[in-house]
Amino acid sequence: MPALPEYRTRILLERENVPLVNGIFVSPGDEYPSSIPEMPVYLKAQIPGATSRKKHGLVRRVDTPEELQENLDTLLSPGSWGQAEGVLITNGLDLRDEYYAGCMLDFGSEDNLPGGILLFSTEGGSGVEGRSGTLLKMRFSLLHPPSSDRIKKELKGLEGLREHAAVSEFLKGMISTFIGYKLIVLEINPLGVLNDGSVVAVDCRAEFEKSAVRKADRDVFFPPGLKSSRDLTELEEVVELINRDDPSGTGFFRQNRETPSEGAFRVATNLCGGGGKMLWEMTTGSRTDIFTMNESDTSGGLSAFKSYRILMVILAQRDAQVLLLTGSGMAFQNQHHLAAAVWKALRESPTPLPSLLRFGGTDEDKARELFERVSGTLPVRVKTYPAVVFPNAMVDDIMDMAGETTETVQRYKAPRGKPEIIVEIPPGRIYFFPQKWRNDEIPPSIKACPTGFLQWKNGFLHTDPEARCIGCLMCETAALLDGNAEILIELEMPEVVD
Ligand code: SF4
Repeated sequence: MPALPEYRTRILLERENVPLVNGIFVSPGDEYPSSIPEMPVYLKAQIPGATSRKKHGLVRRVDTPEELQENLDTLLSPGSWGQAEGVLITNGLDLRDEYYAGCMLDFGSEDNLPGGILLFSTEGGSGVEGRSGTLLKMRFSLLHPPSSDRIKKELKGLEGLREHAAVSEFLKGMISTFIGYKLIVLEINPLGVLNDGSVVAVDCRAEFEKSAVRKADRDVFFPPGLKSSRDLTELEEVVELINRDDPSGTGFFRQNRETPSEGAFRVATNLCGGGGKMLWEMTTGSRTDIFTMNESDTSGGLSAFKSYRILMVILAQRDAQVLLLTGSGMAFQNQHHLAAAVWKALRESPTPLPSLLRFGGTDEDKARELFERVSGTLPVRVKTYPAVVFPNAMVDDIMDMAGETTETVQRYKAPRGKPEIIVEIPPGRIYFFPQKWRNDEIPPSIKACPTGFLQWKNGFLHTDPEARCIGCLMCETAALLDGNAEILIELEMPEVVD
């Protein structure tokens, strides 16, 4: 999911009258600003999708005009972070408190219609999800957003909150921005409380879906004249090719260009949806002992075939120590299919990683059951979590898992012979080995096909022309677990990594 940098998220919030810390934006090539906020000021390099900017020196405090000029020159020039779109200069503030506020899209479930989720905490910073008593989690309708009175009611009883009126008004404006611009995630962290009890957004970010951007707002989301970032890494190029061959669903992947701090745990991530990304950022954003190897987003109903391919790329990152996969807890994508993709990637990748997997959504129990059955056969340790466990608990397990050495990995051998079925979309080759299934019963692999695409007639495999293959991997999973490996699926990767 593409992310808006802070200065462009501010434009959206400003239009909805959400109070912001004073700031001005300077782009490369601009004159030195003639009017700047009173010193000290903070400089923030604006790089879409960049996380943990503070940790990587992309947020700097300056106390004099000379320092300002010098640091502006540095941050506006290309560096290890690439080329920033510009630098946001904001006031230093004397904050009495720091809170956290976030909105994310909820695709709904059997019991709930799609809508939004508001998260607010009086503790701010990272790890807010795990702090009961200080966290408000409130679902809201996108068609009938809550009034500030309704929000105020919900805020009652939250530990440490005194500014109920100011905060509820702020959150109302935030929800309007989220709905008005059809965002997937909107995060204010911190939401600062000044000494007079007023509140302002100190830092903010948003994620959006390209196709949801209205014509009238294109200038904010895609500013004209902005240099597009083509400094793709080899693995990012692979993901571009995967998306080209199978454009359904979101497959976003960007590697961290920074150098990890000494001793930091290097975590490869597969974050499912904007909610997964938001939870991860909330949990680890300010931690120096965790180095996020990559940003990722796999969501929007992508097939297990595509999830597998993106996972193979994520696992291929050099020096990664663990894989962490999480969604927001209510994924649209079938979690059993996702688990099949993860299992396939961990058994076929030449560089599997110890994995922490949090499944949440349709068939999440089946997803965990699958790993209960197969974990012992993998060359790496795998731990699964139900959706009720928030990612901060998973982060506590990273240290334990990261120290593990991987057993010798057997080189994956692709099935031999001619595939029985070539699936065009999503691309995959299905092999059937009749010699492995000689009994009269319908093979479990064929029974497992949820669309009826695979059929068994008179002891032979057929396909139903009226049905289609959705790339769920259920046939291969059942063949390996309950059959005799009579069906195997080969998912080719783009040539550069194949
Ligand atoms: S053949 Fe059926 S079970 Fe196998 S991947 Fe396709 S839809 Fe899924």
